[in-house]
Amino acid sequence: MAGNGQPDVHQAARIAMVETQLRSRGIRDQRVLDAMLAVPRHEFAPPHYEGRAYGDHPIPIAESQTISQPYVVAAMLEALEIRPEDNVLEVGTGSGYQTALLAELARRVHSIDRHATLVEQAGPILKRLGYENIALHVGDGSQGLPQAAPFDAIVVAAAAPQVPPPLFEQLREGGRMVIPVGSPYGQELQLVRKHQGQMLISRQEGVRFVPLIGEEGFRAG
Ligand code: SAM
Repeated sequence: MAGNGQPDVHQAARIAMVETQLRSRGIRDQRVLDAMLAVPRHEFAPPHYEGRAYGDHPIPIAESQTISQPYVVAAMLEALEIRPEDNVLEVGTGSGYQTALLAELARRVHSIDRHATLVEQAGPILKRLGYENIALHVGDGSQGLPQAAPFDAIVVAAAAPQVPPPLFEQLREGGRMVIPVGSPYGQELQLVRKHQGQMLISRQEGVRFVPLIGEEGFRAG
């Protein structure tokens, strides 16, 4: 799906990223690895970062936000166990990079960001790459997106003080959510499952994300 018909000079960098940053660190889900191979990460990076788009680090984007490190993105996607028929919510569109990966894995992707400028930049890139199963939204994603619920999977790409109750409510029975929970300065990645209406949490690795700013997140400023 990804690609705009132009020769892709970044393919070698993408293969190296998958081998040295993902597979070697234990990412095993072949659908996730294939998606990371397919999506041109450099298309989502600012022009002066294009040469470093496949490095083992986050990338700064507009509005003081970041594209997460490839390994962190892959670990979150693997934990979500996304199936081709799934309806997925992403909170924190940012550049649209992870949105594209989700679109490779799921039937339908809704992605929301509080910054209209980021959504306005991501939209044309995702369209140019040919993704047709994505709907972008501007707003406070800490409250979810009730009009598109229930979701089989939710990925929150910003740090929250706790699991936002509206997001848990909008998960389908059996659904999965990955979310960094903690302070604005450091968090643990939590995998939340909805089992018989109850919240089952398993704790994953330590991470550092930009804060989720909103009604069920942190306050701005
Ligand atoms: N997934 C993105 C990518 O691949 O480029 C990176 C996301 S960045 C780490 C976190 C994003 O969360 C930022 O774009 C920020 O504007 C957004 N964000 C923070 N609080 C939010 C909220 N309440 N609702 C929606 N988006 C929010």
